[in-house]
Amino acid sequence: MYKRDRLKREVNVGGILLGGAADVRIQSMTNTDTHDAKATLAQVMELAKAGCDIVRIAIPDKTAVVPFGVVVEHSPIPVVADIHFDYRLALESVAAGASKIRINPGNIGDSSRVKAVADCCRQAGVPIRVGVNAGSVERDLLAEYGAPTPEAMVKSALRHLVLLENADFNEICVSIKADTVTDTIKSNKLIHEKCDYPIHLGVTHAGTTYGATIKSAAAVGSLLAMGIGDTVRISLTDNPTEEIRVARDILKSCGVMDGIEVIACPTCGRCRIDVIRIANEIEERLRGIEGKLKVAVMGCVVNGPGEAKGADIGIAGGDGSALLFMKGEPMYKVPQERAAEELYKMAMNILTERNE
Ligand code: SF4
Repeated sequence: MYKRDRLKREVNVGGILLGGAADVRIQSMTNTDTHDAKATLAQVMELAKAGCDIVRIAIPDKTAVVPFGVVVEHSPIPVVADIHFDYRLALESVAAGASKIRINPGNIGDSSRVKAVADCCRQAGVPIRVGVNAGSVERDLLAEYGAPTPEAMVKSALRHLVLLENADFNEICVSIKADTVTDTIKSNKLIHEKCDYPIHLGVTHAGTTYGATIKSAAAVGSLLAMGIGDTVRISLTDNPTEEIRVARDILKSCGVMDGIEVIACPTCGRCRIDVIRIANEIEERLRGIEGKLKVAVMGCVVNGPGEAKGADIGIAGGDGSALLFMKGEPMYKVPQERAAEELYKMAMNILTERNE
């Protein structure tokens, strides 16, 4: 499983631990109007059902705090209040039951305001996330570095962290989000070296689903492979529940999270079965089912079982039939038209047995 480069401080977000040796948590953010508690709660419920661990909600103004409180009251998962600039909204969101606040203390005014937010969060046992991105870097740092470089973003984040530390507050998570893969990797490596707070990974303004998935998998996957990162939010210009599906798949493919993985060969001139259709069908039918299993769909019996030795079960195409195999060892043949159904049944049997 996930081997962290270095264990970070553990913070508690409404009963969900972030950092330390805790699982990498999946987060998302609602995109409904926060003033509409019913619509926002419906989306929170959908996100929770999809596997979201922690959800963030924007608090654009004072009138959003009451509906935010309603959502918090009924939410099955911890809710984070996302605040920009107005420290009073942070105080009110904590009073409304927020499990975490996302705010940059350098943007809220003098140290008395920072202290007020820190004291309020400390008393309520609510952590704070400092979240820096290219758009939030201060003017003097932009002048110094010429652009929102990874170094500038890290320096900005460290400034915010120091303000909280000066207010004797350490229940902190930190995120630095860039819109390119290289800047995301570089800035997170730097902040990882410089602080012991849990790191929230993500690419900002990543784009529409296809492109953002590739970008996020490259950036977040690379960092996780280095053992860096405690929680992820995959930003997609799409329904937020899609973010959860992509986040889970990235975590599974990095070996950070257990799950069902369907592998398939790319097919070639030896292929004897409709790999594309069967692999898609199996993936769709197994989607959302809990458990750990690797299922393979391979085009030919010549190479398929051997190439997919690492899979728990699989099928490989033969002449008019499909060979079912387990850990690379042949089991039995079925007619090709029953291949997908047989593989699915076998997968479900194994998953049921493992759960018993
Ligand atoms: S498993 Fe067979 S069909 Fe698939 S790529 Fe390998 S050789 Fe080709």
